[in-house]
Amino acid sequence: MTSSELETKDKITFVHGEDFARKMDSEDNLRDFRSEFLIPRAADGKECLYFAGNSLGLQPNNAKKYIDEELEDWAKLGVEGHWDARHPWLPYHEFLTEMSARLVGALPIEVVVMNTLTVNLHLMMVSFYRPTKTRFKILIEQNTFPSDKYAVDSQAQFHGFNPQEAVIEQKPRSGEATLRTEDILETIEKQGDSIALILFGQVNYLSGQAFDMEAIARAAHKKGCTVGFNLAHGAGNLLLKLHDFDVDFAVWCGYKYLNAGPGALAGCFVHERHSKQFDLPRFAGWWGHDKSSRFKMAPDYQPMPGAEGWQLSNPPIFQLAALRASLELFDKATMVALRAKSEKLTGYMEFLLKSIPNEFVSIMTPADLRARGAQLSTRVKGQPKKLLEHLQSHAAICDFREPDIIRVAPAPLYNSFTDVYQFAGLVAEFAKQGG
Ligand SMILES: *Cc1c(COP(=O)(O)O)cnc(C)c1O
Repeated sequence: MTSSELETKDKITFVHGEDFARKMDSEDNLRDFRSEFLIPRAADGKECLYFAGNSLGLQPNNAKKYIDEELEDWAKLGVEGHWDARHPWLPYHEFLTEMSARLVGALPIEVVVMNTLTVNLHLMMVSFYRPTKTRFKILIEQNTFPSDKYAVDSQAQFHGFNPQEAVIEQKPRSGEATLRTEDILETIEKQGDSIALILFGQVNYLSGQAFDMEAIARAAHKKGCTVGFNLAHGAGNLLLKLHDFDVDFAVWCGYKYLNAGPGALAGCFVHERHSKQFDLPRFAGWWGHDKSSRFKMAPDYQPMPGAEGWQLSNPPIFQLAALRASLELFDKATMVALRAKSEKLTGYMEFLLKSIPNEFVSIMTPADLRARGAQLSTRVKGQPKKLLEHLQSHAAICDFREPDIIRVAPAPLYNSFTDVYQFAGLVAEFAKQGG
């Protein structure tokens, strides 16, 4: 499947009024997944309108159950739990591999759950940012997540380059808020010979713009650049085909759309073609060592093939348990169905917000479904912080980014069309009161 085929198939006409929201909910095959989550409640006991799943996903009911199981097995078995726990700890991360692979469109050998996001980003750059005197630049998108900018700057510095020269930012055209694919491709075409690595947030955290990974990867490889993506805002959100898109590596976190809790474990993808490239420089640890001989404790490092070969430590089992609870839900729902619902849910939010009179809300996220996921980044007339207060006082949760961006992300696993209807109603009410 190519990214251009990922367009929505069933176009839908949105209608005003609560009846429409109720009808959409009643026809929604995924509606029962909501009850698999703990929805935060306001002081009066009412469920919140939760639209911050792009920042911290909600807790699956089973997270506690699965963590409790590990606590019990640890209490009962001590060290023997590594082999005898209901889910033995030695291979525990493997219980998440196939589900992670399906989530991002990868082969099992290409993915592993380990560490946290920025750690994985650095580990990937150790292997895939290998600058030379003439090819040393890193191309990123402007307004990249600050942590990613710090990470690439420090990698350039580590290799003896001045980040001001080595790190180049793709900027939007003047007067535009998002990037054009053609401009990204032109930069790669023109400057590719000096670019060692292209690293984009697959969905930009601020604008909500999703980039055409496949086109970027193709252009990058044509010019001999390696290409990686940060899927922090893409995993569990968009329909991904990482293997087919042919990116060299990707990383993502577990706590945004993936609902594995604050500071959750992260994912990592290394394309199959690198799976046996044992000569790639890498930072090693015993968990990346060939598992059949790991416990011989030999001094020479023999990495496992595939993404697992980048593991460092034996992983935190409670964290893996929480992520397992969430990945099971994604697996049951399937990303294809989730994405189909997400397009409708976010489209409905867009429709309602845009119909508030006097263009009170403007949306910087592209309208093109191929160029966005669940999130809409909005700007309102007047004072956005006042609107946030209004929303908060009605138990609606979304997030604010300086200077004036309110990000709203309906999550198809647990948000309903009625949630969207009520949320947009609160914004409309605020606008009517004069903003
Ligand atoms: C959320 C996010 C991060 C956060 O990094 P952690 O290592 O998980 O703290 C980094 N980059 C992007 C693009 C993000 O969206």
